[in-house]
Amino acid sequence: MIVRGGDAMADAAYPWSARVAERWGHLAPQALIVAIVGVILLRLHPPTDPMMALGVSVALITFVVASWLLMRRHDRGLCEHCMAGMPLNPSQLAVRYKRRFWLSHSGAQPRYVIPYFAVLIGSSFLPGKSGLLIWSLVQTSMIYLILAYATHRRLQPWCPWCRGGDGGGEDDPVAPDPVPEDHRQLI
Ligand SMILES: [Zn+2]
Ligand SMILES: [Zn+2]
Repeated sequence: MIVRGGDAMADAAYPWSARVAERWGHLAPQALIVAIVGVILLRLHPPTDPMMALGVSVALITFVVASWLLMRRHDRGLCEHCMAGMPLNPSQLAVRYKRRFWLSHSGAQPRYVIPYFAVLIGSSFLPGKSGLLIWSLVQTSMIYLILAYATHRRLQPWCPWCRGGDGGGEDDPVAPDPVPEDHRQLI
């Protein structure tokens, strides 16, 4: 997408802030995973100073929102880091990761999103140490969702749901199956 010369004009047209934003958007899934781990640690080992706890919470929320927004921006265009990191065997990987593809499509449907959020939030009301453990485990499920999303955006040209529009999770049980038979390379 971006061809840069080493001269000052090119640098001015593509300032460091834009480069940081692009890089951050590219690494947003990893950033969000770190934030989830941070939220879990914060609940398990809350700071004793209430101001400190508030500060850390606000910082975490800001970090998550910024990562999310930059990830959305990243996903709307072509990213040079993504291009450089394109795997050599994307169609084989697409077959291996079809469950993640299915998840990233189905995960956007209200019939899955609403119950999932109910469990995500509801688990925080479970009492005692075992409640805390269950809550932590439930939160870590978000890490897999983010991985699924990241895999999908990396291999989207090979996603059977994006390509054919068939399935899309409509009446699918857990295991999706519309894996493309042909292994054409799209680039
Ligand atoms: Zn990227
Ligand atoms: Zn797709």
